[in-house]
Amino acid sequence: MPQVTALPALKELSARLGKDITRTQGAGGNTSIKVDGTMWVKASGTWLAQAEEREIFVPVAVEPLLAALEANDIRADKATYFVVEKLNESKLRPSIETSVHAVMPQTVVAHFHCVNTIAHAVRSDSDVVVAERMKHLPHLRWGMIPYRRPGMPLAREIAPVAKERPDVLILRNHGIIIAGKTVDEVSERIETVTRALAIEPRITSAPDIEHLSRIAAGSEYRLPEDQATHAVALDKDANRIARMGSLYPDHVIFLGTELGLLEEGQAVDGLLEAAQRAGRPHPKMILVPGRGVVVSKELSPGGLAMARCLAEVALRIEPRAGIDYLDASQEYELTHWEAEQYRQKLDRAGS
Ligand SMILES: [Zn+2]
Repeated sequence: MPQVTALPALKELSARLGKDITRTQGAGGNTSIKVDGTMWVKASGTWLAQAEEREIFVPVAVEPLLAALEANDIRADKATYFVVEKLNESKLRPSIETSVHAVMPQTVVAHFHCVNTIAHAVRSDSDVVVAERMKHLPHLRWGMIPYRRPGMPLAREIAPVAKERPDVLILRNHGIIIAGKTVDEVSERIETVTRALAIEPRITSAPDIEHLSRIAAGSEYRLPEDQATHAVALDKDANRIARMGSLYPDHVIFLGTELGLLEEGQAVDGLLEAAQRAGRPHPKMILVPGRGVVVSKELSPGGLAMARCLAEVALRIEPRAGIDYLDASQEYELTHWEAEQYRQKLDRAGS
């Protein structure tokens, strides 16, 4: 890799972002830096958390990518066509969100799935509640972007707004973008903005491990190692919010569109038979209200991170708030998307 002076600092910031579950889960989130017309952006399927341990950045030519995006050329969606092959030592594909980074004019861009942001950004009144928080940071220019599928549709939605050089963009039902001139500036803004958007999660009782172990025994389900994952089923509002629909893209991609709900006294076999009769796949996670959750033994590391994410988001959503869930067509375009299938394949391979 050629000398990109600020890359070590970006890697340090990326690893820090990636290791904080309230900001990044699994392969979600991505960072980039533009140097002399080349943008170094996180590779698809790689984890920000590993930024300092392995090569996760891919060089992409910015101008041709922007021209393709402007022309509505489908090659802008995956951006693989715009990789600068002679510099691409890792031979990885660029992130599926590369075009989103390209449309931001600033040198350094961080995009991540901050659970505090998402808890605001799924609300029907998100523009009001976010404005209330951001008014305390008058030195930052910010905007709100309506939900679009990540990749080209989202980048095209952001493009006209990006011309105004916003420091912060809140992406409805998705996450946040924070941009700046330098890695230090972006790093500082990340702290300031996430502090302003912070919500105290509701506290729950402890999971009933014994009960959950009995339920999972002999089934295709198991208990998650991460104890905090159970909280989504321990708080009655979180349980309701989580089951009523899909809140953001990575949830749909890694956990599917339907979670299981095991009523008191019901067995896992009965739940799975009912799903089969209705022509639905076996749920990747089953909520047992008041007890905790069990997860499919086949759930990938990324899926487990998304299960924890759901608890973090749902416990921060105000119970009385109106929520805009993704609709059926938005769920469909996420589950039938080739670039995403590649990302999940890497995840299953433990990349
Ligand atoms: Zn994203």
